[in-house]
Amino acid sequence: MNPGLPGIGEAIREVRGRVEEAARRAGRSAEDVRLCAVTKNVSPEAIEEAFREGQRLFGENRVQEARRKIPSGPVGAEWHMIGHLQTNKVRDAVRLFACIQSLDSLHLAEAIQKRLEFEGKDRTLPVLVEVNCSGEETKYGIRPDELPPLLESMGGLDRLEIRGLMTVGPLSVDPDDSRRAFALLRELRDEARRSTGLPLQELSMGMSADFEIAVEEGSTMVRIGSAIFGGRM
Ligand SMILES: *Cc1c(COP(=O)(O)O)cnc(C)c1O
Repeated sequence: MNPGLPGIGEAIREVRGRVEEAARRAGRSAEDVRLCAVTKNVSPEAIEEAFREGQRLFGENRVQEARRKIPSGPVGAEWHMIGHLQTNKVRDAVRLFACIQSLDSLHLAEAIQKRLEFEGKDRTLPVLVEVNCSGEETKYGIRPDELPPLLESMGGLDRLEIRGLMTVGPLSVDPDDSRRAFALLRELRDEARRSTGLPLQELSMGMSADFEIAVEEGSTMVRIGSAIFGGRM
């Protein structure tokens, strides 16, 4: 008998319920919003428990931790890289992750392209471009005005499937600040869609403190850590 870790299933259901409410308020379908469970500093047991509760998509922000967790983690889970990626970790990242959400430079994009070419002639990888929409200096991600030239330069990198954009909301507790940042990401996506012709369907935005606002502003993927696994991450 496995007593399970109390709270995780319940927390996942609660978050999903709140996503549904926010989607309804915005006239959207909750099915268009995926829940990515963020596992930084989370034990293997807690990850297993989330998987047993039906959670399939997980996010890690460090390659080092991913190297330990993913190969021994639940079979059938989908893992996304959500933290800053250094080019010297690209080799591992390309093997471990189904998507790199934190693409933040042409240099990194070229390193990923090169690695994928090395891995095999049909090897491709979905990526999201991370944009710093709050202007906070401590944040990773490119500036909004850097997006069009980056996408243009990435046009020749045929192994990268650019699926959309990602952002980390502002630290501010003022919901208007969060809303502005998320609306900006959506507008940047809409503009980039027109200029590139790519679908750019994915908007990864919203964390434990601000995911309902993100869903109202068009998020297609919320990345939730502490509201599922507890603690301050
Ligand atoms: C930690 C982290 C999250 C989850 O944050 P919570 O506030 O715990 O929900 C989401 N995205 C990124 C990039 C993170 O580093």
